[in-house]
Amino acid sequence: MYYGTGQVAESSQVDNYLGFAGINGYKLGEKFREHAISLGVEFKSGEVNEFEVSENGWKVLCSNGESIETKTVIYAAGAKHRHLEVEGEDTFAGKGVSYCATCDGAFFKDKETVVIGGGNTAMDDALYLSDLCSKVYLVHRRSEFRGSAKTLERIREKENIEIVTDAKIARIEGDTTVSGVVLEDGTKINAEGVFVAVGMIPQTEKVKGVLELDESGYVIADETGKTKTEGFFVAGDVRKKALRQIVTAVSDGANAAVSAAEWLSHQ
Ligand code: NAP
Repeated sequence: MYYGTGQVAESSQVDNYLGFAGINGYKLGEKFREHAISLGVEFKSGEVNEFEVSENGWKVLCSNGESIETKTVIYAAGAKHRHLEVEGEDTFAGKGVSYCATCDGAFFKDKETVVIGGGNTAMDDALYLSDLCSKVYLVHRRSEFRGSAKTLERIREKENIEIVTDAKIARIEGDTTVSGVVLEDGTKINAEGVFVAVGMIPQTEKVKGVLELDESGYVIADETGKTKTEGFFVAGDVRKKALRQIVTAVSDGANAAVSAAEWLSHQ
């Protein structure tokens, strides 16, 4: 059975993970997985419904009916794609609107596409799509980009990427599939694909009431991953922190594992 490696697999090119310059995200995720297996990590597939306090620690209740008894939990559920919440977005989801350029980009070969956002994801997506599509519009609501200057430089060198700044999307239009986007100033951009890359929302629904969350829903934990909840540790994008990158997620994982082991040794 195949076990996914998370959102790293969606990045066409990762430039900022030490020692692996320019590696494909899917390949990097596979390397992580294979390395973990070689060290004896056992993977199980299933969706967690709930965490319950038990006599020995925690009971992890899964949607397939299985329950796992454990003394500690390291929660690393990451974050999911934020939606634009404009007219047409839900109507055309999967009919031209996508949240993953590397997954769906091939459907728009030699076509015109729009990428929305100003972070590293939107910028990576624009670059990736520029090698497939006839034209890519990178539409951002401000004039300054949040993503890396190096990537922006590469984008500016691409003849088929047009940067549209200070532009907010009013709606996504189409008939049975997408035909384009309309900006708040009334400008219409014709495109068959719309890639929404406007950030992430932490996946903390299942730990509400179990873990302390900040105002945006991220888990509050110290740098060692320890939360205020006994036996519960967090790692990665789900944790409240300043920088969300693969390198910081990996560091979180190491910290949380050591922290959990130390906690166990004191029990
Ligand atoms: P992000 O950095 O939070 O950027 C989200 C972008 O979407 C921002 O430019 C934001 O605009 C814009 N936005 C948010 N809500 C919007 C709305 N309602 N309408 C229009 N625009 C909206 O998210 P991300 O790009 O997904 O990146 C997440 C993290 O992963 C970051 O730390 C990033 O560096 C990292 N990452 C790294 C790589 C890499 O290293 N290769 C690749 C992908 C992601 P404002 O700028 O105006 O707020």
